[in-house]
Amino acid sequence: MGKKTQHRLLLLLCLSGLVHRSAAFVFWTAIVEISYSNSNNETVGQFCECGVFGRNSPVKMASGIITLPKGDPKGCGPGPVYGRNSSSPSWIALVKRGNCTFSEKINAAKRQGAAGVVVYNVDGSGNSTTYMTHPEAEGIVTIMIGNFQGREIVRLIKNGTEVYMVITEGAAHGPWMDTYWLYFLSIAFFIVTAASVAYFVFVSANRLYNLSLSKRKEKRLKSEAKKAIKRLQVRTLKRGDEETHSDSLMCAVCIESYKAGDVVTVLTCEHIFHKTCIEPWLLDRRTCPMCKCDILKALGVEDNRKESISAESPPDVTVITVTGGDTMYEVPLTDPGSTDPERHQHRYDNRAFEGESEPARG
Ligand SMILES: [Zn+2]
Ligand SMILES: [Zn+2]
Repeated sequence: MGKKTQHRLLLLLCLSGLVHRSAAFVFWTAIVEISYSNSNNETVGQFCECGVFGRNSPVKMASGIITLPKGDPKGCGPGPVYGRNSSSPSWIALVKRGNCTFSEKINAAKRQGAAGVVVYNVDGSGNSTTYMTHPEAEGIVTIMIGNFQGREIVRLIKNGTEVYMVITEGAAHGPWMDTYWLYFLSIAFFIVTAASVAYFVFVSANRLYNLSLSKRKEKRLKSEAKKAIKRLQVRTLKRGDEETHSDSLMCAVCIESYKAGDVVTVLTCEHIFHKTCIEPWLLDRRTCPMCKCDILKALGVEDNRKESISAESPPDVTVITVTGGDTMYEVPLTDPGSTDPERHQHRYDNRAFEGESEPARG
């Protein structure tokens, strides 16, 4: 199985899981309509979308005369009596929440032929309702209503009023319209945003820090290079000097032959270049353009530069160290038998020489 297919399957699984979970969060409100005759024999009707269907209840219409259990208003125990049966006109049990499970209350009413069960919330809960779970009592319309409404109906019935109720399906409420879900989404969004911003700030700070570090290092290396350049030998070529009449000897930076009167700098590796050509080069790179000999190292100017050296490609020439006078020179050689700079294999770091240096590198 390809990696892409695996990813798609995983995504599909996650999505189906999400849909499944969302479905579990969906609940339906119920429209509760009650009607009764008052003392003046007038019919009073009230309705509101104030009930919530139980999780295991069918979401459909139910209607009937509201009936209270005789005795315990919570309708618990082995046999709460409603004084009605399945042959009575359609009736709906009204019980108070508490003392036993929702399933027990519902099943007791169901056994005696109720068309539906209305559970009203505990005292002190005002008009609030909860989403009931009653897995052992399915197949009967069950809703919960608020405590105030429940107590008002109980009061009417206890006064001898016959109250009729019609329960119908209200709106579906999903996670997308649930306040808690919205809170959760906002918090999740906030966390993700905050984490992204924090990550961005961290990365930027790290980059800035590295940049300033490398700038500082570059500055330090430049000042060291300046010191080293001051210590290099400078000569003015005279007529008759070997450099002025050899065609093979030329400044590797500007590729021009030397003339009498030219001011040249002699590097620690004995390679010579025009002073004006080699100084900017050395400030920038600190190595001989021909043999990559490190002048800072050779002149002992360097301090803890190990990491910067290892980052560059090391010179692939043999280096021997000779001591003369006060200064220690490192002379790169391809032929261990000779220290003659003329015979050095020329390795140009300067891009202008790339073509010429190719065979030497191979
Ligand atoms: Zn030059
Ligand atoms: Zn050199």
